[in-house]
Amino acid sequence: MAADIQASLRSAKGYDVARRALELMETRGVWPTPRNFELWVRYLVDGEGPLAKEIDRLVAAGHAVTESVGEALAAQYLPDSRLDGGIREAGEVLSKELKSVTRAIETAQKSSEEYGQELASASQRLGVEDTGATKEIVEGLASATRKVQGKNAMLESQLAETTAELDRLRQNLEQVRRDAMIDGLTNLTNRKAFDERLAEICQHADAEGETLTLALIDIDHFKTFNDTWGHQIGDQVLRYVASVIGRLGAAPRVAARYGGEEFAIIFPAESGLTAVAVLEQMRLEISSRSLKRRSTNEDMGAVTVSAGYAERLSGEAITSLIERADAALYASKHAGRNRTSAASPMAAVAAA
Ligand code: GH3
Ligand code: MG
Ligand code: MG
Repeated sequence: MAADIQASLRSAKGYDVARRALELMETRGVWPTPRNFELWVRYLVDGEGPLAKEIDRLVAAGHAVTESVGEALAAQYLPDSRLDGGIREAGEVLSKELKSVTRAIETAQKSSEEYGQELASASQRLGVEDTGATKEIVEGLASATRKVQGKNAMLESQLAETTAELDRLRQNLEQVRRDAMIDGLTNLTNRKAFDERLAEICQHADAEGETLTLALIDIDHFKTFNDTWGHQIGDQVLRYVASVIGRLGAAPRVAARYGGEEFAIIFPAESGLTAVAVLEQMRLEISSRSLKRRSTNEDMGAVTVSAGYAERLSGEAITSLIERADAALYASKHAGRNRTSAASPMAAVAAA
């Protein structure tokens, strides 16, 4: 520490200067490092000097005198500053502790109790060597450090809160994203997500040289069912049919609500032969179950579905694949419903 500063601290007003320096540092949120302490003592002792003016300018401009700023100021204005033994030792201990506080914020792990004990022992060690001004100043620094530490605890808890809040937002966002892909009535993939998945799966199939099969499924005479039993029971039947389709079309397959009472299943990397077996299982399961009206126990009979499927031709466009599956579904309807039809590869040529 420069001789003039040392002299100020040793004078009758020394404690007063040291205390005021600490207060200034505290109110301005300046870290109580030995370097900053020296800067602020000089600020008080030589209020008209270039260093004091520079600090005033920085503070007025809203800049924080962080450890790095303190170092830069010291390099410029206190080029040959030397700390004397006791203060330097205290400074080193405190600097070490300050670094550990910073680490504590980063890791949110270091306990403040442990930190307090280390400070106490640092203060005690210094007390053995020197009972005079150095100890007072170190205790002042320690108390200022504890205040900063208190602020750190606050920052730490704010950080934890912010992290928790971000976590909640992330979960909400994931939920919103999931909801945007799901049909609300049936819980199957909705039409928008189906379009995206089909494009993705076709791209993947092209890259891997794989095949895939697309099936379209439509409930037979559903308008009549609705007219007879009402729209609400119609909704329940839609959910029931969707549950069978969802089970047989579980991942990696994609089961989707394609439109009102029309569904789709994508069979990635699966042939038409596998698809027809699954579709027939679905069709037989649905048509063999007699539906009962819950409120009256009335027998409503079974609903049936028609299906059409198309195995994708190598490099076939998505529109062509959908058109061929749709043509196959239409063939099932035309042939009397409650059946599964394969698409003709020729339909692709016709559609093209
Ligand atoms: P087809 O065998 O030729 O498919 O005859 P369909 O009566 O099933 O076909 P159509 O296209 O004439 O009628 C479809 C019906 O599906 C009409 C509509 O009321 C019903 N529908 C579509 N979406 C819903 C829905 O979300 N809930 C209910 N309850 N009915 C729906
Ligand atoms: Mg229908
Ligand atoms: Mg329809």
